[in-house]
Amino acid sequence: MTRLFNFSAGPAMLPTAVIERAQAEMLDWNGSGMSVMEMSHRGKEYMSIAAKAEQDLRDVMAIPDNYKVLFLQGGASMQFAAIPLNLLGDKTSADYINTGMWSKKAIAEAKRYCTVNLAADTSDGGFTTAPAQDELKLNPDAAYVHYTPNETIGGVEFDYIPETGDVPLIADMSSTILSRPIDVSKFAMIYAGAQKNIGPAGLCIVIIRDDLLGKASAQTPAMLNYQTHADNDSMYNTPPTYSWYMAGLVFAWLKDNGGLAAMGDINARKAEKLYAAIDDSDFYANPVVKHNRSWMNVPFTLKDASLDADFLKGAAEQGLITLKGHRSVGGMRASIYNAMPEEGVDALVAFMKAFESKQA
Ligand SMILES: *Cc1c(COP(=O)(O)O)cnc(C)c1O
Repeated sequence: MTRLFNFSAGPAMLPTAVIERAQAEMLDWNGSGMSVMEMSHRGKEYMSIAAKAEQDLRDVMAIPDNYKVLFLQGGASMQFAAIPLNLLGDKTSADYINTGMWSKKAIAEAKRYCTVNLAADTSDGGFTTAPAQDELKLNPDAAYVHYTPNETIGGVEFDYIPETGDVPLIADMSSTILSRPIDVSKFAMIYAGAQKNIGPAGLCIVIIRDDLLGKASAQTPAMLNYQTHADNDSMYNTPPTYSWYMAGLVFAWLKDNGGLAAMGDINARKAEKLYAAIDDSDFYANPVVKHNRSWMNVPFTLKDASLDADFLKGAAEQGLITLKGHRSVGGMRASIYNAMPEEGVDALVAFMKAFESKQA
């Protein structure tokens, strides 16, 4: 059996230990005589799986008791509409920070429901930086402030949590959740599609402070209303049971491996090694200002784009796959989420050095 180092931005690698455990439990979960896929979501076996997953996530992220954790479908993209529908209340505008492709999508969707005030917009610089706190033009009367702490495509990451006073702060953490410890209490709501750093696709996690529930506009579909899901422990309808179970295995794996502090140390080291390899050469380049470089998604270009295909082919021969950059950025992108072992980054760095010297 060969497990490749898969640098995909998502769906992305899962820890091998997690997949092995799922494999061991595949036919018969815990003596139940059933696969988790075959269980009623209302049966006692599945209810215990769901509850443990939530508790382990609460433990790992130190989520305060006054936050609900919702296990939803529709991906992070569904939240782009759910957020204004649920959280505008009697306000008519919301603040959005535009730092890249995912912010833009959230903004486009919000514009259907409210006036969007761009609190900052880094598109002029080609999305290579995050705005500083004193550059944010925040409207004190906004319903909320939305931002993307880590832009998955541009590889741009905030190095601070914006201060928004009494205005609720909402973060699309799809590609950075669980990568290091964060203070959940600084956010009104955090959401993340699972397929980057949580588990398989098909699940989206919403962590929301309970005072924000119950304000959805009247036309909000029941399935998009956070109150519906909070009232029903995310079982108003059939949840994505297997993805929820797999996410639970990932949370348990995180607990067994030193939690988010340990992950943060490893992730910092992985990112540092890769950026050092880029910066130490004239052959590779990354355009993002240093203090906003993502720990999770590392885009880089080769000096000569006509070598891209050779690079990708040679990398694949070394078991380093899915390094092609997003079509809007070009070049390469290495996504190095929690499940990417440090050896994977070491192997990539070694390949980059060898490839460069071959060109000289
Ligand atoms: C991947 C991603 C999304 C979209 O997630 P889906 O689950 O596919 O809807 C949104 N925001 C960010 C930051 C992402 O990385």
